[in-house]
Amino acid sequence: MTQSGDLAIIGGGIVGLATALALTEAHPRLRLILLEKEPQLAGHQTGHNSGVIHSGIYYKPGSLKARTCVDGARRMKQFCDTHGIKWEGCGKVIVATDEAVYATDSNIQQLIVIPLGPNGELPAPGDATTIELGGEIHYTDGFNANGIAFARGWLLIVQSNLGLVFKVDPESGEATQIELSDAAGDYTVVNGDGIEVRGNSLAVVRNFNNEVDTFKLNGQLTAGVLTDQIESSGFAIPTTATWAAGDLWAVNARFDVQNPPPDLPYWITRVPGL
Ligand SMILES: Cc1cc2nc3c(=O)[nH]c(=O)nc-3n(C[C@H](O)[C@H](O)[C@H](O)COP(=O)(O)OP(=O)(O)OC[C@H]3O[C@@H](n4cnc5c(N)ncnc54)[C@H](O)[C@@H]3O)c2cc1C
Repeated sequence: MTQSGDLAIIGGGIVGLATALALTEAHPRLRLILLEKEPQLAGHQTGHNSGVIHSGIYYKPGSLKARTCVDGARRMKQFCDTHGIKWEGCGKVIVATDEAVYATDSNIQQLIVIPLGPNGELPAPGDATTIELGGEIHYTDGFNANGIAFARGWLLIVQSNLGLVFKVDPESGEATQIELSDAAGDYTVVNGDGIEVRGNSLAVVRNFNNEVDTFKLNGQLTAGVLTDQIESSGFAIPTTATWAAGDLWAVNARFDVQNPPPDLPYWITRVPGL
């Protein structure tokens, strides 16, 4: 079979297809041929990856890679919205210790570890590693590991979909559940998102519950007793919080608004007296 055209692209993965789309949009009369050796498109890496829209955090700020990654993520989301393709802004949550930056991964049962130099210098991007999360944590459908904090040599993480909190050995990734309870018995923090620890206090921000729960932790970090369920008219789906100046400050993600316009107001809510 002989076919002629103005241009041929070899390979029907995302790079070939995106190039073909951009070229045909820019030049509608272009006769473009896409050659793919497999019987279907996207049969290799494009169809077998982790499905993450990367945000650019692993690249040097301001570098070409970081800028194209941020721009690419924005355009990917726009493309999905235009074509009715569902995507989820599940995100990664990051905590830094003196030795490393740790990020949770909601889809793959692992932690991402970015080792830091003696003065907190960032390593080359290729030096980032992963450790498998093991022990008592088991991933299931939905958002798994989400918020992360560091306390007494342990990483604390919350598993959003099951509402469980774990302490994790930062070396081995071994997770042990912290048994949460209230006066009635076992307690879960479904929709747990950002978490903060100060002394014996643990705060869990529960996004779609519009609530921050606080617990008193025991010395071994094996159990926590509910001390407060804070609701506020100022909450608009808070997703994380930080302790500062004696109070907790919760960041409202505004997931209550679908397709937020650029001028949608965002604010931080002060949760006093914890
Ligand atoms: C394990 C893993 C996880 C990843 N996770 C992510 C992620 O979460 N997010 C992200 O953004 N990126 C991720 N990536 C990277 C991303 O998947 C790749 O960068 C991207 O898919 C590459 O697209 P591509 O079109 O260059 O390659 P491919 O998808 O491999 O496409 C190349 C195409 O060319 C065809 N081809 C090859 N030779 C010929 C030939 N001679 N004639 C005709 N056709 C030919 C192949 O059949 C194939 O269809 C991941 C990669 C891996 C390996």
